[in-house]
Amino acid sequence: MAVLTTRPLGKPLDYLAPEEGCRLGAFVEAPLGPRREMGVVWGTAVGDWPVERLRRLAGVVDAPPMRAEMRDFLSRVAEYTLTPLPAVLRLATRSPGLGEALSTRKVYRRGDGLPDRMTDARVRVMEALDGYGGAAVTMRELTGLAGVGSSVVKGLVGAGAIREEDMPRDTPYPRMNASSPGKELAPDQAAAAAELREGIRSGKYGTTLLKGVTGSGKTEVYLEAVAECLRAERQALVLLPEIALTAEFLNRVEERFGARPAEWHSGATASERRRAWRMVAEGGAELAVGARSALFLPFRDLGLIVVDEEHDTSYKQEDGVFYNARDMAVLRASIAGARVILASATPSLETWANAERGKYSRLDLTSRFGEAVLPRMRAVDMRAESMPAKSWISPTLAEAAEARIAEGEQAMFFLNRRGYAPITVCRGCGHQIGCAQCDARMVEHRFQSRLVCHQCGDSLPVPEACPKCGVEGRLSAVGPGVERLAEEAAARFPDARVAVLSSDLFGSASGLKERIEEIAQGGADIVIGTQIVAKGHNFPLLTLVGVIDADLGLKGSDLRAAERTFQLVRQAAGRAGRAERPGTALIQTHQPDHPVIRAIIDGEDEAFWRAEAEGRMKAGVPPYGRMVGIILSSTDVKEVFDTGNALARADGPIRRIGAEVLGPAPAPIARIKGWHRARLLVKSGRTVPLQAAVAEWLGRVKIPSGLRLSIDVDPQSFH
Ligand code: ADP
Ligand code: ZN
Repeated sequence: MAVLTTRPLGKPLDYLAPEEGCRLGAFVEAPLGPRREMGVVWGTAVGDWPVERLRRLAGVVDAPPMRAEMRDFLSRVAEYTLTPLPAVLRLATRSPGLGEALSTRKVYRRGDGLPDRMTDARVRVMEALDGYGGAAVTMRELTGLAGVGSSVVKGLVGAGAIREEDMPRDTPYPRMNASSPGKELAPDQAAAAAELREGIRSGKYGTTLLKGVTGSGKTEVYLEAVAECLRAERQALVLLPEIALTAEFLNRVEERFGARPAEWHSGATASERRRAWRMVAEGGAELAVGARSALFLPFRDLGLIVVDEEHDTSYKQEDGVFYNARDMAVLRASIAGARVILASATPSLETWANAERGKYSRLDLTSRFGEAVLPRMRAVDMRAESMPAKSWISPTLAEAAEARIAEGEQAMFFLNRRGYAPITVCRGCGHQIGCAQCDARMVEHRFQSRLVCHQCGDSLPVPEACPKCGVEGRLSAVGPGVERLAEEAAARFPDARVAVLSSDLFGSASGLKERIEEIAQGGADIVIGTQIVAKGHNFPLLTLVGVIDADLGLKGSDLRAAERTFQLVRQAAGRAGRAERPGTALIQTHQPDHPVIRAIIDGEDEAFWRAEAEGRMKAGVPPYGRMVGIILSSTDVKEVFDTGNALARADGPIRRIGAEVLGPAPAPIARIKGWHRARLLVKSGRTVPLQAAVAEWLGRVKIPSGLRLSIDVDPQSFH
């Protein structure tokens, strides 16, 4: 039989079945050279190796076999993303302890026997056990509580005073109560929920865009679809972009269904993840909530995938396997006969266009739920504001903030830049301090008193003297980051409590979560934050949002610059006035007449998407054309460009489908950690066999062994 392992061999290898036999999809231990690797029985023998030389599988791993549907899904992800299958398999076998055959553990209870002799230690153990009132305890819990070694417990087991039992390590999650009624829905919510429920009942694949402004009650609506899916006894998966969002969401699930779901994200502990993986496979988890990689969990019968904030860039993985969880969710659902709900206030243009084409259906929630109204939006024309040097909060914004704080409300200043200042320059010689390893500037982080490279993470203490001319005391910070903005706010509002929220200022996701909770309870007057504050958190007292620099995102040459600015500023502004108090958003800009800024202020969403769609259609770029990015990197710059040029010359297979190869060009960040980088870009029409052509093309050029080649199908970023 053919076995696929996660070793980079490219394809399944033939083996003889183990002594005890095994079936398709089984997790097995395959001898590979001197080692044993875990693999999956992928199919019947390939037959490219003489039978008498085949090795025998060492055994079957105690884990639920991988279902045919999952193998199909992984194969198609590999095909779509042009990634070797073993790398994709790795995404699906990330359960901690998988293959260790440790599905049971020893637990201890009170037995009937009495020991012939009692010591102090033995008494403490028996007392500790009694404290549990007959429940089973692990060895570690018991010895910890009694303060004894395990031999004391073993002695009592021998004497019959304690019973030792095997218990399954991972137990099913509590059942969800899917029939408990949810909140009473507003008419547009009820209509949307009814349509989603009907989709679930059809038992067939289908994708729906659920569009609604922040606070319109999308979550409430898709939880109705989750309930219907659970009633149909199929499993549901909710994907969320941010770990920090999960706690709030888990509470809502518990409120609605009376139990907590399985969790899968980097903040979950190894044992939580092991339990989630196994229970999802065995059907002991009805609902799973997680980050993008949860899409590769081994569901037994998946009926619904919700992708919340579907436009979020964190759904795109950009290392190892380059995949977009939103798009792969649609693929998985189409194989599983499941429904997909893509929820967003500001959908990606890809999803918007798929709804226009009728490939996805679309449901709209047009107003905020209940009394909450959308924030009033106003542009602050920075050309007309009098701004002292090194200040970024305009008098108009400052006045508005003052008034809100006086009312006991909160103001938020949004700036999507971590650190103190993006540039450190020497006023003596004009030198800008850059990273030694990367083609990037070092960013000052004043709280840590260090300069940090945002590309490779390297850092150094802020120097006294210019590293170039050696003159001391003339280094100067240029431009604002959130830390500098906080300094300005503290000086401008001496009585206000200022909080900074930026991912790098918190050691852990839970630290950040706690701080957000505190702020929501009123623990700050002014909140200053990067994009993490724009995403989904609920601050009931927040009534004013100031966007410090709305022009920032519009400067790039990225094809999605306008879309991203629209989404980010809209989301940030949407934080204002979520509860009973109406909110205002002030957008600082030097170009108040820019079409994107106008669309944001006027709330003309559809006009924005239509204009954006037209522009991209004319340019033949996604979603009206397709792209594949090729990134070449090596420590040898000549090798990078020699290979790039060879690829550009060998573009026959690409031209044959009417597509073109652009480049090689130095990547916008031309060096990271000492690796030189160049990019090529394939641009094609929407309906050509692009993957096959790219595979043939890349097969024609010999890639030197020291060179790394990454393939990014449907690239989202171009750095
Ligand atoms: P969205 O997901 O669109 O941002 P939510 O579902 O989070 O919106 O709803 C916003 C707020 O309104 C939440 O606090 C939610 O509990 C409340 N809400 C939404 N729909 C209802 C409803 N039908 N009844 C009561 N409260 C609701
Ligand atoms: Zn660097």
